[in-house]
Amino acid sequence: MRLIIMGPPGAGKGTQAKFIAEHFGIPAISTGDIFRANVSQGTPLGVEAQRYMDAGEYVPDEVTNLMVRNRIDEPDAEPGFLLDGYPRTLAQVEELDGMIKFTGHALDAVVVLTVDQDEIVQRLLQRAQVEGRADDTEDVIRRRQEVYTDQTAPLIEVYRDRGLIHEVDGMGEVSEVTQRIFAALDDLPQS
Ligand code: AMP
Repeated sequence: MRLIIMGPPGAGKGTQAKFIAEHFGIPAISTGDIFRANVSQGTPLGVEAQRYMDAGEYVPDEVTNLMVRNRIDEPDAEPGFLLDGYPRTLAQVEELDGMIKFTGHALDAVVVLTVDQDEIVQRLLQRAQVEGRADDTEDVIRRRQEVYTDQTAPLIEVYRDRGLIHEVDGMGEVSEVTQRIFAALDDLPQS
């Protein structure tokens, strides 16, 4: 299974990604988590990524693409993977196409979580308190949403044209959303 989960910041992608990955026995690969791990370890990648993350901007494609390529090459991703937070730009879509084609496989599905804008801001402000993320201040939240709308939302149409989009209502209880996702993905042929 080669899956992508998409949706605006705060839609609950990370939470759902873990359940989906467990269900299908594949790793959930979150570019945001990998960047944050690098930031906290003070690696050169972390130092480079941090200034973009703190401003709510995207880390440059070359940096992000290389990081994902290396992660996908790891043995645990051989049977498949779920990408959370990647691709986020058209250039990343093309890069991912190349990576997957190289392995002789294909993308199976793209899950899009749809949520209410006001709900998102509330969730992110709440998360800021619980997790203390530096990129969860109100200004940065707003900027991240703008960047999502400008650069990432258009990718939905790209994948829709390929017949891969499964839109799932992301509102409500976490477990309800998980069940909706499983229902949407249940009929997929395994690849
Ligand atoms: P996330 O946890 O997915 O919201 O990601 C947190 C931050 O990491 C984003 O606001 C970006 O600065 C950076 N980031 C994560 N994924 C990507 C990506 N695919 N392309 C560029 N920047 C990314």
